Amino acid sequence: MNQWEALWEYQQANLALAKLNDNLKSTPTYKKYLRLKTACKKYQEMLNALVAQLNAKLDDANMVSSRFSELQRQYELEKSELDIMEQDEMTTSAEAAESKRSIEKLLTSIKSIAQELRSMLNWCSSTQQRINDTAAQLEAATRDREATKQLCEDERKQAVPEAERIKADILAKRAEVPDELLKKYMALAASKSNPVARLDGNTCGGCHMSLSSIVVRQVSSGNNYVECENCRRILIP
Ligand SMILES: [Zn+2]
Repeated sequence: MNQWEALWEYQQANLALAKLNDNLKSTPTYKKYLRLKTACKKYQEMLNALVAQLNAKLDDANMVSSRFSELQRQYELEKSELDIMEQDEMTTSAEAAESKRSIEKLLTSIKSIAQELRSMLNWCSSTQQRINDTAAQLEAATRDREATKQLCEDERKQAVPEAERIKADILAKRAEVPDELLKKYMALAASKSNPVARLDGNTCGGCHMSLSSIVVRQVSSGNNYVECENCRRILIP
């Protein structure tokens, strides 16, 4: 076998291993695993956002609740003052009316704050329900993801003998390639999975661009190391 054919065979073995790995990443099981991974991430983000919203609302509700208590305290105070005033003969009717007005005002505020607090707590309770639902979805998706991951690992294990066979083949093929040529191949392989291209008429079998007749002659002779002027692949007859 000449060096060009040895190089080609070596590339074919490398491509076979790449294909095996690609196939493992395109099985229905692996695709399902990727979908579940995305779903888990989405549920987790939703859950974090809901918990943050709930905590913020609970902080607000605590503040509203303190205002509610404060208004109730003022109401009790105002009411006991009115009781004292009503016992007191010196109290004018204007003073009593003033006190009653401020009690009315306090009652209105207390009512509206109670309403606000109720709607906040309703919101918190429905958000808590959404948190529970999302947590359940996350848990189910996580279970499914782990089971699917296990199936992917099984698929990978089943492919191990084939992968080992190809790896041994790669080593055997590599031994046939002269060192100098192998170095050039390796340098190109860093950016291309198939750095070797056959001459295809007067075009490069890699990028399909036309080659000059000089290049075609040089490659065809089998005596020269030639790279495609366009894609830099190593051209072989
Ligand atoms: Zn090319």
